Amino acid sequence: MSVKRLPPGATIGILGNGQLGRMAALAAARLGYRTHSFGPEADAPAAQVSSRAMVGDYRDAATLKAFFAACDVVTYEFENIPLEALAGVAQASKTPLYPSAKVLAICQDRLAEKTFLNRIGIATAPFARVRNRHDLEMALAHLGRPAVLKTTRMGYDGKGQIKIGPKTPIDAAMAVLKGQEGILEGFVDFEREISVVIARGRGQIASYVPVENRHAHHILDETIAPAPVSRAVAQQAEAIAHLVAAKLALVGVLAVEMFVTRRGRVLVNELAPRPHNSGHWTIDACPASQFDQQIRAVAGLPLGCPERHSDARMKNLIGDDVRKVPGLLADPNAIVHLYGKAEPRPGRKMGHVTWLAPKGSAKKGR
Ligand code: AMP
Repeated sequence: MSVKRLPPGATIGILGNGQLGRMAALAAARLGYRTHSFGPEADAPAAQVSSRAMVGDYRDAATLKAFFAACDVVTYEFENIPLEALAGVAQASKTPLYPSAKVLAICQDRLAEKTFLNRIGIATAPFARVRNRHDLEMALAHLGRPAVLKTTRMGYDGKGQIKIGPKTPIDAAMAVLKGQEGILEGFVDFEREISVVIARGRGQIASYVPVENRHAHHILDETIAPAPVSRAVAQQAEAIAHLVAAKLALVGVLAVEMFVTRRGRVLVNELAPRPHNSGHWTIDACPASQFDQQIRAVAGLPLGCPERHSDARMKNLIGDDVRKVPGLLADPNAIVHLYGKAEPRPGRKMGHVTWLAPKGSAKKGR
């Protein structure tokens, strides 16, 4: 597939107008492009910094059609966009959608995603489909406890999932699905969680070093770049990301979230076909950030350099953490990013902070 090279001043459409869209719009502006954001809320983080902003429902084909017509290319900042309207509009439009609707279809369904990964030879936790109580009983008999039950769709930051321990009643577990289809996964007793962010476009591919992700209350709290893992683990993780990007014929950016087991095996947990919270450190530590790569890939430009000039630690500012901002702004080593959200609700990502350290120092210090 040849991606058309967009001239300066062209318009890049971004579906979704949260912080990922905001940072993509800022990267687009640096490369001379306009952005047009689309999402259900006005005055959202991406809308605030886009050249144009459309407020609309992702299920409204007519509005989506008008949005595509106003853009030279369309990308997205989250993968849970309902495909009913989007797939048809994207297919009928002259404006390309990157990554493709096919990639979106795989990445928004945990069953389709894990089936795809296993088919291309990539290991995941063992899993089984759960449509009803009987399926769950069968799956638990097969996979054992503990296990993790998740909705196949729309889950993020630990929403729509439950760990099934030795005493968890089946009914309590089923209640989490709220009548939706689920997937039961064998519990991975991991040593750490890592991710690789990779960009692909115009036949070129560029990946960032694997990073470690630490969660608090199911939400990403900190990312450590690079991840303190062996060379063998880092190579496995990178090889997995390259294979996934190639097999998806990716145009854009993809994050691959992985578990590293205590024996050094790498299992894929999840794919996100867009820039990722665990890639925010790249803004401050690499010549080209994950957002620069997203814009370059979809605009048909050569990809930028993903090699870090510094090691980094990124910490999310969640909810009331914004109260720390005045102190952080006074810290000459803290690089503060805020997303323009007025109200700090619990669990809401308000911004992030990055600290840099000389390349190679982070690993030695551990
Ligand atoms: P997810 O929504 O799939 O990214 O899951 C959220 C978090 O739950 C992950 O980052 C892990 O910490 C944990 N988790 C998810 N799936 C599993 C699993 N199969 N085994 C152990 N922990 C898991």
